Amino acid sequence: MTSEENERREHHHRPRGHRAAGPAPDAHTLGPLDDAQAQLAFAVERLGLGPGAHAVLSAPRRELTVSVPVRMDDGSTQVFTGHRVQHNFTRGPAKGGVRYAPTVDLDEVRALAMWMTWKCALVDVPYGGAKGGINIDPRSFSQGELERITRRYTSEIMPLIGPDQDIPAPDVGTSEQTMAWMMDTYSVNQGHTVLGVVTGKPVSVGGSLGRASATSRGVAHITLLALAHRGLDHARSTAVVQGFGKVGRDAARLLAESGVRVIAVSDIDGAVHNPDGLDIHALMRHVDATGSVAGFGGGEAIDGEAVLELECDALVPAATEGVLTDENADRVRAGILVEGANGPTTKAADAILARRGVLVVPDILANAGGVVVSYFEWVQANQAYWWSEDEVNERLRDRMTSAWHAVLTYSQGQELSLRQAATCLAVQRVWEAHRLRGQYP
Ligand code: NAD
Repeated sequence: MTSEENERREHHHRPRGHRAAGPAPDAHTLGPLDDAQAQLAFAVERLGLGPGAHAVLSAPRRELTVSVPVRMDDGSTQVFTGHRVQHNFTRGPAKGGVRYAPTVDLDEVRALAMWMTWKCALVDVPYGGAKGGINIDPRSFSQGELERITRRYTSEIMPLIGPDQDIPAPDVGTSEQTMAWMMDTYSVNQGHTVLGVVTGKPVSVGGSLGRASATSRGVAHITLLALAHRGLDHARSTAVVQGFGKVGRDAARLLAESGVRVIAVSDIDGAVHNPDGLDIHALMRHVDATGSVAGFGGGEAIDGEAVLELECDALVPAATEGVLTDENADRVRAGILVEGANGPTTKAADAILARRGVLVVPDILANAGGVVVSYFEWVQANQAYWWSEDEVNERLRDRMTSAWHAVLTYSQGQELSLRQAATCLAVQRVWEAHRLRGQYP
């Protein structure tokens, strides 16, 4: 199936905003790709780059849509649809996660791939941007089925990936185990072990110390920097975290360990609130035992969407895109919004939050810690020389801190929001690389 055919088919079936849960999407936005394109259009205009640059930067360089036929445990065969999009690879190999979720479609993957390009440029790692995904709910499959889905998907996208071409990593619904299967499938086909083909692997098969919590650690650093910027003492500050997965869980833990009072968290099954601060370690044990924050005795159960509207200093959406919309942005009572997730704030919500004086720290800055340590993992794998966890964490802190200061200084100098500043800085770097390399032929 060609991308065009697939796009036509998916466009027909795609619900507006294509979100599984949460408040109604903005009336004026179709989904994350519209938001990503609007951010790029703003940056191109502001930087005076012109229509040629806009055309180059708005179109993905490569897209592959694949059928993934898989033998199920009951002996039947099912066929799933997978995608891999490389938005840009001018600054180095394409880099980006693989998502398993029922919301996955080509437009979502395109948006996430474009954000990866800007994120990698912003934290100055030598990568372009990519993303992949399969339209499945991973919770509906056995481990054996997930392994076969992953291996067949990897084999189908094999022409695009490789340590010098495109390096996948975990995202929503995928894990270290998924990356181990991808690395093994790629390696078996090459005839030798290729550790650098994916990042976010288990440490015992070439993963980096510190990678599992790197995105969360970056989110926590940035939250503390944003609190300080607003003149708030973090030991007297409160935070709310939406999502308790790979990003949200350790973000909540690290914020709590830094002295911030984490008063509420949520996941897809429920939410808990305790104005005195949740015991995050006890909550983590509860989630390990039950699979969800729902039913935790150390707080009061509240509605999942209500967490976004609680009074707090820092709100950290760390679940999925499009959760802050023109329906609920007026009710946000946080002073600072730190985007742990990619694209949690729609364009319309962004404008409302800006008008209300909420400091929005954009995804491409706030959650870049993951790709920074993915880069460290790739460097270590390529050199077959491993760093200590302290070294990884220290280098991560340095990169996040300098990216924060670069974005803040640019935003103040140019009178832009942090999102506009971050996008302009990143787009400028990517376009500079295009300009210097020149247009072939
Ligand atoms: P994950 O699958 O590990 O966890 C997602 C969490 O969000 C789960 O707890 C799930 O229950 C919860 N959730 C989903 N929908 C929800 C809703 N409507 N309300 C409340 N909770 C909901 O995924 P992850 O890796 O933690 O990724 C979360 C976000 O962070 C995504 O936007 C992802 O693209 C982004 N991100 C992830 C990484 C990474 O390294 N994993 C890096 C950068 C950005």
